[in-house]
Amino acid sequence: MMRYISTRGETTEYSASQGIIRGLARDKGLLVPNSLPEKLDLNELWDKNYKYIAKTVLSKFFEDFTPQEISYCVESAYDDKFDTKEIAPLVWANNVYFLELYHGKTAAFKDMALSILPHLLTTSLKKEDERSKICILTATSGDTGKAALEGFKDVEGTEIVVFYPEDGVSQVQKQQMITQEGDNTHVFAIKGNFDDAQTAVKEIFNDDYFNDTLRERGVKLSSANSINIGRLVPQVAYYVHAYCQLVQKGKITLGDPINVVVPTGNFGNILASYYAKLIGVPINKFICASNENKVLTDFFRTGIYDTRRRFRLTNSPSMDILVSSNLERLLYILSDGDTEKVASMMKSLDEKKYFTVDGDIARGFQDFYAGYATVKQTNAAIKEMYDKQRYLMDTHTAVAYKVYCDYVEKTGDDTTTVIASTASCYKFAESVCKSIGFDEKENGFEYIKQLNQRTRLPIPEGLRDLDKKKIYHFDAIDKDLMRRAIKNSCL
Ligand SMILES: *Cc1c(COP(=O)(O)O)cnc(C)c1O
Repeated sequence: MMRYISTRGETTEYSASQGIIRGLARDKGLLVPNSLPEKLDLNELWDKNYKYIAKTVLSKFFEDFTPQEISYCVESAYDDKFDTKEIAPLVWANNVYFLELYHGKTAAFKDMALSILPHLLTTSLKKEDERSKICILTATSGDTGKAALEGFKDVEGTEIVVFYPEDGVSQVQKQQMITQEGDNTHVFAIKGNFDDAQTAVKEIFNDDYFNDTLRERGVKLSSANSINIGRLVPQVAYYVHAYCQLVQKGKITLGDPINVVVPTGNFGNILASYYAKLIGVPINKFICASNENKVLTDFFRTGIYDTRRRFRLTNSPSMDILVSSNLERLLYILSDGDTEKVASMMKSLDEKKYFTVDGDIARGFQDFYAGYATVKQTNAAIKEMYDKQRYLMDTHTAVAYKVYCDYVEKTGDDTTTVIASTASCYKFAESVCKSIGFDEKENGFEYIKQLNQRTRLPIPEGLRDLDKKKIYHFDAIDKDLMRRAIKNSCL
């Protein structure tokens, strides 16, 4: 049976359910399958719907789950919480397909995985006969927090605690979080920026004394961020589904290669597409798109991952990140599972803030193309697409589109291409309105209204009348008080 092991050499082997409960390995490495599943039979899959494909993919990676358990998780996740029956529709505009991953509750692609993670986790707890209450801790720069709150809202046996930087999220994102309903939801603003919140949460995970205190009282901490295999694996499904949709629509013949373009932050989404290739989806190029925080662009071009640079705030905030956690899993694959090598690169990153790959790993880069877009180029791409096609891209998707255009110009590659479209334009309505040249407004909610009035595109339900919703979460706390906040929330 497939087991999960650490990228950094710890010898323990975990079942999928143990991995989902744990999140990270004990040596702080990420969990990866110790052998690849057998390839998908696309001849059997190509005409199937989203749920069928998701069940097939999940059963390949989560071998200790029964078919009934997999089925329960998928059926509970991908239902009418999504505002389209395709779950993740493909939309054609200007010679490329947009894979719209934002039709879930919170209007960003995080819903694709966070709608199912709570069910995978509660199923895992039952399988492992784990009686503790699980407290999900999340530091968020905006999208993950809300998607995790919605996913875990009123899920039995869990409490969900979200910390967001007081001045680091948009007004709309903040309002989405502080109006969250549910008896087990806890939201705190932290004085400081996202890095402060993220570092503090990591410290809490590694604080043995604190964890012991909680455990004595029947509570275990777990994570909802993209290092959890319970988030990564469900994301593989939409790339398989996208390929099958192209075959269904007669746009490609089964076996034809496609390219994918992914607006990248923590490297989770693009890594999921790489796993899709490993299990048999014919993907030719992985196009990794960054904003001005272009650590990854430089990395794929030079083989040096170097975070010694200024952090930039852009209008695609979910990609404002210098350390892309999931890259570690790619390094593991490209080094042929050389955990010593991976551990030493991660040590260098920790201590010197950069690392260099060797020739063996760099050979694997030929499957990738990496590029970046500035804020100005991003805005111009939104306007051009709207003017030409009346199709609206959010800022993150626009980064991907611009990088794709550069790629085509440079290479002439006309392979059928799918762009992962990661957020509704409404989630970043202010930037989108300003890009197109709509009027200046007072606040984020007014921009949402204006975008709706001028384009007639329906507002996603979760963003409708957001300014009129009741506020439940008022607390703004100092970093030093986070442990107390967790105790008050979970005990
Ligand atoms: C999280 C996020 C991304 C980045 O995805 P990763 O998996 O972290 O690379 C891109 N766009 C949006 C809108 C997001 O919320």
